[in-house]
Amino acid sequence: MRDPTSFLAAEYQDLVASATDWKLHTLRGPSTPWCDVDGRKVLMFCSNNYLGLSNHPKLIEAAAAAARSHGVGSGSVRPIAGTMDLHMELEHRLARFKRAEASLVYQSGFATNAGLIPQLVGEGDLVISDELNHGSIIDGVRLSRAERAVYRHADPADLERVLNEAESHQPAYRRLLIITDGVFSMDGDIAPLDRIAALGHDHGAMVYVDDAHGEGVLGPEGRGIVAHFGLGRDRVHVEMGTFSKAFGVVGGHISGSRDLVNFAFNKSRTWLLSGSHPPPVAAACLAAIDVLEKETEHVRRLWDLTRRFKKALGDLGFNTGKSQTPITPVIVGDSHRAKQLSDRLLELGLFALPIVYPMVAKDKARIRTIMNAALTDADVDFAVASFEKAGRELHVI
Ligand code: PMP
Repeated sequence: MRDPTSFLAAEYQDLVASATDWKLHTLRGPSTPWCDVDGRKVLMFCSNNYLGLSNHPKLIEAAAAAARSHGVGSGSVRPIAGTMDLHMELEHRLARFKRAEASLVYQSGFATNAGLIPQLVGEGDLVISDELNHGSIIDGVRLSRAERAVYRHADPADLERVLNEAESHQPAYRRLLIITDGVFSMDGDIAPLDRIAALGHDHGAMVYVDDAHGEGVLGPEGRGIVAHFGLGRDRVHVEMGTFSKAFGVVGGHISGSRDLVNFAFNKSRTWLLSGSHPPPVAAACLAAIDVLEKETEHVRRLWDLTRRFKKALGDLGFNTGKSQTPITPVIVGDSHRAKQLSDRLLELGLFALPIVYPMVAKDKARIRTIMNAALTDADVDFAVASFEKAGRELHVI
């Protein structure tokens, strides 16, 4: 009898042979600026822990206290017996932070997009998506039965073209949903959400923004892209985000109208059918919001360091693309070169991973760096010196 699982090893071997398998690096200890990766002390330069909150004493204390007061598991899914006071307080505080009528917390950002998008649209609807949107959006759209149209990256004129075509479609679409990342994770550029929202308004479309990389980074107190552009909730209907990046913990969320939240929690299958956050997670997320509101210096520091780093790399002649945020890609072109550069940086003590095809175009391989407010000026200078040394050796500059 043929082994029905033989494809597992065969497909894995294909990945290994084409060097597209993931080789995991292990952190032994916390994700601090200087950390132990695979037994070596290196400067972390690729984590999403933008503000260093994953090791903030207030978050750690809140998590520990919640474990003592509420235990380490919620015991159920939210709709049955898994809603605790901490979950309700978190949603209340998040809505206040986002200046929204209501918020809803999911288990992860991925679970948010995969759970909500297929409820907002279905058969007879059209999703209009930026070509560089995150994979969790793409999967959310696939789970719906809606048609999908893609517009050129961050291009309102092309979005308008798609909207005009959608208007003349027969039979008429029931609903239109425009969906975009807020900050694009591979290039660090910001979606022109003001113009996207205006087009959505003119064409009667819902507007959904995934602000995973904008929260804790953009807008006053790091409230995110909607605050950054000063947009009303009547223009951006779903503001989605995650606690797994600048907030330093884990968990997805949406903010918008009370109607949106009532709809979302009654219909999203990922929310209804999957266990809720352990109490220490909910408590740490609450503490993160508190820190963002009270300690505004972290966001300021993040931007100061970002400017220092981008200027130094630019002066050295590196190509940092069109980044406008603390995500700074160092584009080298060829995948092998990107891998060599990353390996050399690691030897020098800087941990920054290569991003290669199919995550980016074949000739746009890069090292993606992400700034962290917990770094010192000297840390950033060390990173620049490492890039300079490795870059010259490999003739990138
Ligand atoms: N959206 C974007 C734009 C992301 O970058 C990510 C994380 N890679 C997610 C959604 C998923 O978030 P989470 O890690 O909370 O599942």
